[in-house]
Amino acid sequence: MNRRYAASTAFALTLAAGAVLTPTDARGATRPITSGHGWALTKPVTHIDTKPWVIGFHDSRSRTKLTPYLKKTAAELTTRLGVKVTVSSRIIPARRYTCGPTHTITFRYMSKPNPARPNESFAGGCNVRGRADSGYAFINSDYWAKGRRISEAQRMNLIWHETAHTIGLKHPATCPRDKKTGRKPLMCDVNSYRSLSSRRYTAFEVKAFANLRANRARVAR
Ligand SMILES: [Zn+2]
Repeated sequence: MNRRYAASTAFALTLAAGAVLTPTDARGATRPITSGHGWALTKPVTHIDTKPWVIGFHDSRSRTKLTPYLKKTAAELTTRLGVKVTVSSRIIPARRYTCGPTHTITFRYMSKPNPARPNESFAGGCNVRGRADSGYAFINSDYWAKGRRISEAQRMNLIWHETAHTIGLKHPATCPRDKKTGRKPLMCDVNSYRSLSSRRYTAFEVKAFANLRANRARVAR
């Protein structure tokens, strides 16, 4: 059975999650690590398995527009997660709060996907007993509108941010600066599109991805 986990947005809205339990370790297995300095997983997600993931699109317009960005995202995730993530031409309907096929993430490109909050994009996902299973992201096409003065780097970061939500990362409780680079976590870019600074995933998200992998072995089975 799929359980939904919270959908979150790039912009300060965290939607209520259903009451869900974190797996316990009755048999004494090591507990999964689900948060740390500047990163956190979305309860009850703990891990990702080794099966490949496929990125698809709600419609052909979304596919045309977002494929170039998502090829970069897929390459990055493949490296960070040690799980093959590929961009396909597949059409997968994206519906908010609805689980897609297993091991898929679908993207929808549209204006004001949440009319009540017209500046927002949002994403969500599903898990099976704590294993990230599928996700969706609605990318606000208004960010491409002339006059908004949003840079390509910011749009790329927005897509990275929302993609991370689809596989179980959430906004961390604290937003420290990386000692080496001075950067705050990309998952902290939540206040407005203007805060989507020009950078890739930071060391904080990399740590989260590493724990999504490592938790496979830590989860009691
Ligand atoms: Zn967000």
